[in-house]
Amino acid sequence: MNTFLSSSQEAVREQYSKFAAQEIQPIAVDLEKGKTSLKEFLQRLGQTGFLGLTIPKEYGGTGGTFLDQILFIEAVGEHEAGVAFALSAHIQVVELLKRYGSDTQKSRYLPLLARGEAIGSLCLNEEKAGSDFSSVETVVKPGIDGYTLSGQKIWVVNGKIASLLIVSAKDTETGKLTLWLLDSSNQSGLKMSPGVKKLGLRSASVDQFEFLNTSLTDANLLEGDGKEQIDFALDTAKVVMAAAAVGLVHGATKLAVEHARTREQFGKTIGHFQGIQWKLADISTDHAAARLMTLRAAWAFDESKEEFRNYASMAKLIASKTARFQSGEALQVMGAAGLNEDTPMERFYRDAKMMEICQGTSEMQKVIIADELKV
Ligand SMILES: Cc1cc2nc3c(=O)[nH]c(=O)nc-3n(C[C@H](O)[C@H](O)[C@H](O)COP(=O)(O)OP(=O)(O)OC[C@H]3O[C@@H](n4cnc5c(N)ncnc54)[C@H](O)[C@@H]3O)c2cc1C
Repeated sequence: MNTFLSSSQEAVREQYSKFAAQEIQPIAVDLEKGKTSLKEFLQRLGQTGFLGLTIPKEYGGTGGTFLDQILFIEAVGEHEAGVAFALSAHIQVVELLKRYGSDTQKSRYLPLLARGEAIGSLCLNEEKAGSDFSSVETVVKPGIDGYTLSGQKIWVVNGKIASLLIVSAKDTETGKLTLWLLDSSNQSGLKMSPGVKKLGLRSASVDQFEFLNTSLTDANLLEGDGKEQIDFALDTAKVVMAAAAVGLVHGATKLAVEHARTREQFGKTIGHFQGIQWKLADISTDHAAARLMTLRAAWAFDESKEEFRNYASMAKLIASKTARFQSGEALQVMGAAGLNEDTPMERFYRDAKMMEICQGTSEMQKVIIADELKV
């Protein structure tokens, strides 16, 4: 693999970076506080083509690579990781449809997802099914005219703004895990309620769903093995979250460097002190390492390499750990100024911790990586 981006990829990255600085940075605080509607913002991203980056042109997207998408997420994460997190769920739905959807499902939903007319959401988590997503108690039962879906899902990102849900359930007849596509704008027997308030990534809400004998037909089924589909969706989101974490560390580094250049103590700027210089050197090195691993995983996705799963876990593990630890170090460089809610640093610090848990915990990444080692 060429570990450096081509000149055209660099140009695209710069374009994304400019867009994020102009369009996201000024509204980041309002997005987090809910004063600017995330749904409307995502719809705007859809109108400008950013929600269809990997969707084939025949379905209304731009037909780009997963790496293109990852570069976009990195640019978003530099300013507002909550938006990148909301995008991770939307992207999971897009990629699941692209890979496992029927022609009818693809032609019906991919154009809506590309334009932001439908926002996607993946409903796996339940009270008793967290990391062990196979232990779901939501069930789908065959009936005379189709199927009924019953159960509850929690911690669903985008729940309240999504209209296209993919829901996991056990088939009561076969005991197999299956995924079902639901157009919630058009579906009865479904109740959404707001979920918990959380530490960070606050612009993206987490909500809960109750399925009350929701009627489904074969047209709702995502054909294939549910466990394999969920693994694929999680692997995809891990790289998206890794890119968000890499972007976040970049944003935190820029703030810390600027502060080190301008804040004076003991008669000189604090950047003159070796203790501060070494912190910034470590942050910068860890950022570069996490970024390379994330690009490596994105490349493996595009090349359909078997190693994708392993690299996706490694990228998520290193990038989220770097974000959690180095956002703390960057905040330390800023002293009390870094704790001020009016600077993005305190938000970066809160958002970074979330990244070690959502879309698969760090421990679960180690389980996957160790499995590959066949110890
Ligand atoms: C902000 C946020 C958004 C989310 N969005 C969604 C969403 O959109 N859709 C959705 O379905 N879910 C979502 N989730 C749920 C998320 O996928 C789960 O939180 C995650 O999979 C972990 O499950 P859990 O929180 O129940 O922790 P648990 O699985 O109960 O784990 C608790 C602790 O035990 C560790 N652990 C568990 N099993 C093992 C093991 N085998 N070996 C070692 N350690 C282990 C974990 O790593 C963790 O530290 C979201 C979560 C968060 C925080």
